[in-house]
Amino acid sequence: MSYDLHTHSVLSDGTQSVEELVAEIAGCGLIGFSLTDHDTTAGWRSAQKHAEQWGLDFLPGMEISCAIGPLSVHLLSYGHQQNDSVLNEHITQARTSRRTRAQRIVQKLSETYPITWEDVLAQASPGATIGRPHIADALVNANIIRTRSEAFSGLLAERSAYYVPYRAVHPVEAVTMVKAAGGVPIMAHPRARIRGQVASAELIEQMIEAGLNGLEIYHRDNNEEDRNWLKKLAQKYDLIITGSSDYHGAGKPNRLAENTTPTQTVERIKEIIRQNHQKNTTPQHTQTI
Ligand code: AMP
Ligand code: ZN
Ligand code: FE
Ligand code: FE
Repeated sequence: MSYDLHTHSVLSDGTQSVEELVAEIAGCGLIGFSLTDHDTTAGWRSAQKHAEQWGLDFLPGMEISCAIGPLSVHLLSYGHQQNDSVLNEHITQARTSRRTRAQRIVQKLSETYPITWEDVLAQASPGATIGRPHIADALVNANIIRTRSEAFSGLLAERSAYYVPYRAVHPVEAVTMVKAAGGVPIMAHPRARIRGQVASAELIEQMIEAGLNGLEIYHRDNNEEDRNWLKKLAQKYDLIITGSSDYHGAGKPNRLAENTTPTQTVERIKEIIRQNHQKNTTPQHTQTI
């Protein structure tokens, strides 16, 4: 009895609509899931509706892009209040900054390859959080490369001359924002070396101090040695340990439910969400009229 707590739809850089994604999840034997599109909660309502239709439990989620210079960190937020103005302001900015950055990458590419910004937009759903995967899809569509993964190891890799970074929030600040919005922050694929530099113990400890609740240890991008290292850290600070696929549909080799999280752990996450929301709705000062 388990959940897949990290999946993407076309509202960011997955390749399936929320409806298609939930239908596939229902066929996997999972009892629940989270939709964690990058920097958006646009799919929550649809995910909840389709989850109910399939008799699945839905835990609302989002993946926040964070960075410290060249170090990229992804933070999962579960159950935060969707109307939190600070977090909303932040993700609006993040999506805009991602878009501007993608335009600059396309500008550079267009000096050598026949690719336009319109070609990239044609690969993304309206309002979707734009990322390198959409540029990759446009390159595939134009027969410049064969697969998304080829783009990530070549033209769109961080070492590529076409690569442009984007401004992202400091991971400690992101943890603070998620907490203030009543969410449960869990660090995504903490030791994904395949993506470049990874967070140090010191940085993870700073995030824990700011309220980080857990680590996504069971993820294909964390190797065995790193998993053991992370488990020790989790034990030391009594952190929640999750496992997820980080499914992007056809866009990435990750398969749905290849790693999962037991129901008991999800209950612990939900309990923290409940406590956070109670705190947020308790009046700080009682007014006397
Ligand atoms: P960006 O956020 O624009 O820098 O692009 C990186 C994102 O692309 C990550 O969140 C990855 O999950 C996603 N991605 C999707 N498909 C792939 C792929 N085939 N290889 C690597 N990353 C991918
Ligand atoms: Zn992604
Ligand atoms: Fe990620
Ligand atoms: Fe992800």
